[in-house]
Amino acid sequence: MHELSVADALVELVRRRLPAGALLRRITVRIGPLHAIAPEAMQWAWKSAAEKAGWSGAQLELDLPPWRLRCLSCGRRWQSALVDELCVCGAIGAVLEDGAEMLLLSFEYDAAEMASASAPSAPAPAHSQGPV
Ligand SMILES: [Zn+2]
Repeated sequence: MHELSVADALVELVRRRLPAGALLRRITVRIGPLHAIAPEAMQWAWKSAAEKAGWSGAQLELDLPPWRLRCLSCGRRWQSALVDELCVCGAIGAVLEDGAEMLLLSFEYDAAEMASASAPSAPAPAHSQGPV
């Protein structure tokens, strides 16, 4: 399933930015239409990949933008749900502008609990007695 490889890529994106030991809570990603993401399948794939990464329960927020097209004839730019929509000027030569983006927009996490540092590393100074 295609979404599984996308989910693995997201895990890698996050892993490079997440502080060591932190627990991921939520990520927001923008995935271009070229990836042809099915949202339900993507949620399922993310859940599976996140659990494997030790982040079970981490939420995925999807930002799935439409196609961005540019007319080669008049230069008009517009967005469309259709990849092959024609420009209003009637020209046939519209081209895609990207669509392959995969951006980690934001992520939330709980910082790792610091290991207890209560044990003194230096020996406590001996109590010195004042002159009696
Ligand atoms: Zn045009």
